[in-house]
Formats: sequence, C-alpha cells, structure tokens
Amino acid sequence: MPDSEFDVVVIGAGPAGEVLAGRLADAGEKVALVERDLVGGECSFYACMPSKALLRPAALLAEVRRVPGVDAEEKLDVAAVLERRDEIIHDLDDSAQLSWLEDRGIELFRGSGKLAGKRRVQVGDDTLSARKAVVVATGSAASMPPIDGLADVHAWSNREVTTAKERPASLIVLGGGVVGVEMAQAWSSLGTRVAIVEAVDRLLLREEPFASEQVTEALRARGVEVHLDTKATRAGRDGEGGTVTLELEGGESLTAQHLLVAVGRMPLVEDVGLETVGIEADGPIEVDDHMRAGGHDWLYAIGDVNGRSQLTHMGKYQARVAAHNITGTDATATLDGPRSPRVIFTDPEVAAVGYTLAGAKEVGIDAKEVDVSTAGTAGASFHGRNAEGTSRLVIDEDRKVVIGATFVGPDANELLHAATIAVVAEVPLDKLFEAVPAFPTRNEIWLNLLQAYGL
Ligand SMILES: Cc1cc2nc3c(=O)[nH]c(=O)nc-3n(C[C@H](O)[C@H](O)[C@H](O)COP(=O)(O)OP(=O)(O)OC[C@H]3O[C@@H](n4cnc5c(N)ncnc54)[C@H](O)[C@@H]3O)c2cc1C
Repeated sequence: MPDSEFDVVVIGAGPAGEVLAGRLADAGEKVALVERDLVGGECSFYACMPSKALLRPAALLAEVRRVPGVDAEEKLDVAAVLERRDEIIHDLDDSAQLSWLEDRGIELFRGSGKLAGKRRVQVGDDTLSARKAVVVATGSAASMPPIDGLADVHAWSNREVTTAKERPASLIVLGGGVVGVEMAQAWSSLGTRVAIVEAVDRLLLREEPFASEQVTEALRARGVEVHLDTKATRAGRDGEGGTVTLELEGGESLTAQHLLVAVGRMPLVEDVGLETVGIEADGPIEVDDHMRAGGHDWLYAIGDVNGRSQLTHMGKYQARVAAHNITGTDATATLDGPRSPRVIFTDPEVAAVGYTLAGAKEVGIDAKEVDVSTAGTAGASFHGRNAEGTSRLVIDEDRKVVIGATFVGPDANELLHAATIAVVAEVPLDKLFEAVPAFPTRNEIWLNLLQAYGL
C-alpha cells in the first residue's frame, strides 16, 4: 500500500486531538486523525458528558427545593435521566461527529496508531507520513491499584459507572477524588446506596480543606457513607453476578452490588511506538511548554497523555498551543498544571483556580488568604435558602495579586472565570477594586473578598 502523506498526523480523537485537528484544518493544513474507538474520546462518551448528564437533574431539583415558590414535583425520574444521558452520549455512536471532520477535510483513520520512527505513523496496513508534525493525544484510562482480588471482581471504571443502563442498588466507590465524589453524588441522588473509601484523611485532597469538609458533610447528609483514612486490603465477589465485598484495613468490610475504582488515571502510552523515536515512557509523556516531546521539533503530546492537567478544557488549550507552534507562531502554555481552573460538580459545587493556600506556601510564596461566605451577597439570596459554602482568595503578599481562588456553593462555577482572568493576567488588587460587579449578582462576592482583605 502506498504511503499517505499529510502535513500533520494526530493519534487520538478525544477533545484534545479533535480540537487540534480542527484548528489545523481550518488553517489549511492536511490532517490525518487516527482513532481506535470513538471519535470524541473518553470525555464525550465515558467521562465529562455522561457524568454531568447524570448530575444535572438532581442539582436542578436541589435548587428548586432551595428556592421557595416553585411548585415542582419533588422527585427524579431515573429512567428519564438515563435516557437523556444516552441521548447526550449518542448511544455510544460517534457518527454525529463525522460530518464535522468531513466538513474540514480531515481524513479519519480507524484503528490503533503507532509511531514508526521519525514523522511516521502506522495504522494497520497504512503508513502515514507527516511533513510537519505528529501529535500524540491518546488520553488516559482508569488506574487499577494492586489490591488482592480486585482483578477478579469485574470492578467498574469510569466507563461502566457513567454508562450503566440501570441504577445500581448499591455502590462502593474506591477513591475520593473528583471522579469518586462526582459519581457518589450522582448515583446517591438517583437513589443508590453509596459508600466512599478514601485512603487519606479527606476527600478532594488537591483542594482547600474547607472544600473537602463541605463536600463531605453534604455527601454524608444525603446518606453517603464516607470512610476516610481507610485502606482497602482485599476485594471479592460472591459468585458471578453476586455482591462484591471490599475488605478494609482494621477488619471492617463493605458489600454492594458494584465497586467503582476511581483512584486516578493512567496515561495511554503503551503501544504508541514511542521507543521508535527514542522516548521511554511508562508514565506521562513529558513535554516542554510548547507541548513538544522528546526534544523533537516535530513531535507533540497533548491532553491527558502528558499528565499536566488531565482536564478537557486544558487538553483543548494545549491543542491550541500546539496548533500555533505547528503553524509557525510561537506559543507556550502557562497555568496548565495543578493550578488549572477546575470544577467539581457536587452539591455544593467546588470551583477553583491557581494555588490553594497550602500549595502557595509550599513553593515559598508569602501568601495570605481571605475567606467569606459564598451566600453573603444579595444575588445569593435568589439561589435560595441553605445555599451555603465558603469562598477564598489566596493573595501573593509581595506582588499584591490573586494567585488562587476557591468558591464552594451552588453553581459556584459561575464565579470561576473572573478569578481565572485575575490569576492569569495577574491583575493588581487595586485594579480589581475598580472592576465593579453588577447588583444583584453573586459576583458581588468579589467586593466581600476584597473588603475582607482591607480594600
Ligand atoms: C468520570 C470522569 C468525568 C470527567 N469530567 C470532566 C469534566 O467535567 N471536565 C473536564 O474538564 N474533565 C473531565 N474529565 C477528564 C476528561 O475526561 C479528560 O481530561 C479528557 O477526556 C482528556 O482528553 P484527551 O483528548 O486527552 O483524551 P481522551 O478523551 O481520553 O481521548 C483519547 C482518544 O485517543 C484514543 N486512542 C488512544 N490510544 C490510541 C491509539 N494508539 N490509536 C488511536 N487512538 C487511540 C482513545 O480511544 C480516545 O478516543 C473527567 C474524567 C472522568 C474519568
């Protein structure tokens, strides 16, 4: 079979790969996109989209319950929620995405892509060569920890928990990070009995401690069992289709219909042929701030596979950065590590950007925090009763700029982007004083935060 020549070959059609392919095609580049599963990636079918589809109805119902005066029937229709989730993930059919590629002249190759030396990618019998660049955007999969018996219990990963056809009667969630708490929130709201097991002493370890506490308290209030500081030692299933039991350090055990393992993500670097271009990776592919890998000027790695952020919006940002570099405009990524903007769609929501207070202190910044109630504005009163939560700014005392922000409360994500702009642009605090939020919106939280700082 003759070689097929392109300007750029992209391996992986998740959000990072797709955005990159689209940007390049719009700029007139000839692009090949290689995908072995579904165009749209983990995010569209097994992660962001189905999880939010499962979470949203209960969040809406909670809001209706908080705001007096809405005569809504106070119950969720689980079958209808699952049906809408299926509609949002197109019943795991990616054909709706294909016209988007066709319209841009992007050539799709179905199969596993593997680097085959400099600027070459093998897909089945096809050898694709790239005049300008090869981009690895293969994403990540759920990590499975080495727990005795775990491999034999058919534990769920994000794939099964987001696409389950029926509500599980009961669910053990191993891991209290974002995926674990969101799925505990979603299924407990839909009536599943849920227990979370977390090895360290708080959920959402990367966030401010008050965010962990407020989310834990809310989960417990809705009946979720939260086991902190608890290590799982063994898993077993009571026959095919029977219940699963998770034994815990200390002798206690939990039993449920299903076990979700949500202890982190593993970048997909195996079988990508990295060794053919001199890269040894059994973890994330290391990249520079241009998103280039292995010191090559033609090889890029974007999205979850480079391990910098593992968030869709940051993968898409890295795609834009890589697209600029490939088309000849120098661009570098900033703020795409642990300080990326992030939202945890629990009730209350957690929305954060930049450093936490502890994170800032760890890197030697003279940081000071100011905390106020998220419910402390006129705008918040329209979000109803018991719409509590804490909001924090972390301020660099030497430079007098905001370097981190966390908002906990219903729909806290609405407050995030202003904070992201303040952090990225390093807006001086006295300039922020001039940025007047409209009344009566919840953005007046900024007035309260600045006042708490003395402005
Ligand atoms: C339950 C859950 C909820 C989440 N919710 C959010 C959220 O709300 N917001 C958010 O920002 N992030 C969220 N994330 C994270 C988000 O899903 C990832 O950051 C995002 O999917 C990464 O995009 P990507 O393009 O790097 O990789 P992926 O989406 O993983 O896509 C990679 C693609 O590459 C393909 N592929 C892999 N290897 C090959 C190969 N050798 N050849 C060809 N194709 C290959 C895969 O089949 C896949 O389609 C969530 C994650 C989980 C697990």
